[in-house]
Amino acid sequence: MHPDSVTWGSVEITYRYQYSERKTLAISVHPDLSVTVKAPHGTTPEAIREYVLRRAGWISRSQREFEGYLPKQPPRRYVSGETHRYLGRQYRLKLEQGEAESVKCLRGYLRVTTKAEPTPERAKVLLDGWYRTHAKVVFHERLLACYKRAEREGIGFPAMTVRQMGSRWGSFSSAGRITLNLSLVKAPKDCIDYVIMHELCHFAEKHHGPRFWALLGRLMPEYEERRAKLNLYAE
Ligand SMILES: [Zn+2]
Repeated sequence: MHPDSVTWGSVEITYRYQYSERKTLAISVHPDLSVTVKAPHGTTPEAIREYVLRRAGWISRSQREFEGYLPKQPPRRYVSGETHRYLGRQYRLKLEQGEAESVKCLRGYLRVTTKAEPTPERAKVLLDGWYRTHAKVVFHERLLACYKRAEREGIGFPAMTVRQMGSRWGSFSSAGRITLNLSLVKAPKDCIDYVIMHELCHFAEKHHGPRFWALLGRLMPEYEERRAKLNLYAE
C-alpha cells in the first residue's frame, strides 16, 4: 500500500493505494475514516490523485457519515476545522469575520460569522444560541409528531422546556412538563423521538415498570434500537 494525499478546498484527504488486476480505479472509505484505492497495474500516481480529487465530495460525505457513528467527541474548542453535530450529522466549523453576526448551516459547514476578529469564545456564544433556537423548533415539531400517537393512549399534551442538562436526555414532572436536554438536538430525529415518546409515557406511568415499557412498546415498537443508537451520541 502506497500512501499519498490530495488537497480539496481546505480539506486534506490522505489515502493509500495498491495495484490490482482490476480494469478500473475503485475507492473505499472505511469505518475508521481511512481511504484506500485499488488501481489497475500501470496507473500513474498522478492519475490516481486526479481520480481521488474527482471523488473528493463523495469521500468527504462518506467520512462524515461514519464519523456520525463514532461514540465520543473530544471537548469542543470552537476553532475552524473541528466538527460539530446537528441532527446526527457532522458539520465542519468555519469561523470568519463579516458584516453581521450569524451562524449558517450549509453544505457540511457550520459557518460562524463575527463582526470582530473571530474568537472561540464568541463562536461558542453564537453557536450555543443557534443550537438553542433550532432545538426549540425541532423539538416542538417532533413533539407534535409523537403526540399524534401518544394521544390515542389518553396522554395529555405537555408543556416543554429546553435546557442544558447534565447526564439526562430528558425528564418529566408530575405537573405535566417535559424538559429536554439541549444537546439532544445533536442526535438524529429518530433518537429525539425516542426521548420525547419516553417522557410522554411518564404521563400514564410514573415509574419504569413493566407497564411503562409495554406502553412505550405499543407507541414505538422499535424503541430499543433507537435507545441504543442514542447512546452513541452521549457526550
Ligand atoms: Zn423515564
